[in-house]
Parts: sequence; C-alpha cells; structure tokens
Amino acid sequence: MTTPAASQRLANQIALVTGGSSGIGAGVAKALAAEGATVIVNYAHSADDAEQVRQEIEQAGGKAITIKADVSKEEDVLAMFDQIRKEFGTLHILINNSGIQVDAPFLEMTLEQWQKVIDVNLTGQFLCAREAAREFVRRGPQPEISRATGKIICMSSVHEVIPWAGHVNYATSKGGIMQLMKSTAQELAPHRIRVNSIGPGAIATPINESARDTPEEEKSLLTLIPYGRIGEPADIGSVAVWLASDESDYVTGITLFADGGMTLYPGFADNG
Ligand code: NAD
Repeated sequence: MTTPAASQRLANQIALVTGGSSGIGAGVAKALAAEGATVIVNYAHSADDAEQVRQEIEQAGGKAITIKADVSKEEDVLAMFDQIRKEFGTLHILINNSGIQVDAPFLEMTLEQWQKVIDVNLTGQFLCAREAAREFVRRGPQPEISRATGKIICMSSVHEVIPWAGHVNYATSKGGIMQLMKSTAQELAPHRIRVNSIGPGAIATPINESARDTPEEEKSLLTLIPYGRIGEPADIGSVAVWLASDESDYVTGITLFADGGMTLYPGFADNG
C-alpha cells in the first residue's frame, strides 16, 4: 500500500512506466504516483496485473491508467504515445523499464533468443526514448511544472558493467543501454532533457525468481551483495522519484547503481 507523500515532488506531471504491471515497474509506478504524478502503467501481456497496479495507485489516492503496447514494435509505441497525448496533452517523465531475460549458454544461443532480448530491452528503450524526446521538444519547457523539459530514466542493470556468462544477450542489451543513455543525454541536454539510468542489483521480482528458489540459492546470491539483503521494488522506486524530480536537476548522463554494493567486486572483500 502506498500513501501520498507530503512533498508531492512530481505534482502535475505525466509519467509513463513501461512494463509497469509487475516487479520493479510496478514499484516505480506506485512511488511516482505517491509523489503526485499521473502514471500510465504500460503492459505487454497481463491486463489483469496492470489493472491491479492501477487500482492500488487509485486506492492510495493517486491517478493512473493502463495502456497495452509491445515496446519492441514501433507501431505499438507510436499508438501508445498518441493515446497519451490525446488523454493528457503531453508527457513529462519516461521510465524505460520493460525488460526480459531469455537465458542460454553462448554455444547454444539461437539467433531468435539473441534477437528477442535485444528487441525488447534495447530497441524498446530506443523507440520509447525517441518518442518521449520528440514529445518533450514539441511541447517545450514548462518551468512551472519542472525545471527540465523532460526526464528519461532507463532501467539498466549492474550487468551494464558486470559481465554475465550464460546471459550474453541480456548483458549486451544492458551495455547497449549505457551508451543509448549517455549519447542521448549528450544530444538532448541543450533541450533541457535529462537522461539517466538506474542500475539495480538483485531485486526480488518475477524475472529472477529462479535464482531465489531455495535457501541455498538465496544464500549464494547474498554472497554477491555486501549490504546483505536482496532489494525490493520500492528501493528502486525511491531512486526513480529522485531522478525524475527537480532535486536531481543538475544530474544527467549517469547510471545510479542501487545494488547493495554488488558492483563493489565483493569477491575482493577478504582477498587482500
Ligand atoms: P518483471 O519480469 O517483473 O518485469 C518486466 C516487465 O517488462 C513486465 O512488466 C513485462 O510485462 C514487461 N515486458 C516484457 N516484454 C515487454 C514488451 N515486449 N513490451 C512491453 N513490456 C514488456 O522483472 P523486473 O525485475 O521488474 O524487471 C524490470 C526491469 O528491471 C528490466 O529491464 C530488468 O532487466 C531490470 N532489472 C531487474 C533486476 C532484478 O533483479 N529484478 C536487476 C537489474 C535490472
């Protein structure tokens, strides 16, 4: 259950969360709504899950709608942005969150497994970021609403910097997101559009259930996390709110790792 924050740091802003129907996206959608944003909960498959997130947001006093779109399909993304413009006039915040894993040993990875992950994780972020940026530039600045003309937040991963055997397609997509984020941040800064990434570590969501199936697996995962706990979607929600708010107005082109220290090479902690 989310309660409206007293500060309402995102009041009067329209935010799209791709893949907002589950896991990190749902946590971010609720956190943005609690700060006053009207949230579009995008989903690809489960209308029921998206509807549940929408209802939770409304029960907590927030505003949300759901829109179905496959972010890897240009026609779906264009139609989603048309609908957003029709319903709300514009957009202020994009959370480029949708992502999948299709794991296979490299020697056995098919072109289809490679392509599917690149299509959703990387091309999907490109398509949504481009449409969001076009809308921000079309609308122009609204300083009474936010100092930035628009904010794009890409859901990356610790695997934009940590290689991941058995998950080459996924790690490659996240490495690609790093340059998508940095290059667009550089290109769009003169328009006062800020582009940043969040690099989550291990967050308890459906994407990694199999890595937490048994107590042994969970224990093994914890050896990679110096801070000693697996993250929750709300840990990412609070970071997304900050990156979307004027509190981070001078921040663009960074990946903010929220990973309990996973990127600190924990294997070296007692190895010196
Ligand atoms: P999840 O499986 O709960 O969420 C993924 C979301 O993406 C779902 O809502 C799904 O419907 C949506 N999606 C999948 N294909 C789509 C498509 N074609 N079009 C639109 N939406 C689509 O998993 P999650 O952990 O919440 O993942 C969210 C993001 O966080 C992903 O980008 C993932 O790579 C990233 N991430 C997760 C973790 C973690 O530990 N959970 C760590 C690092 C990064």
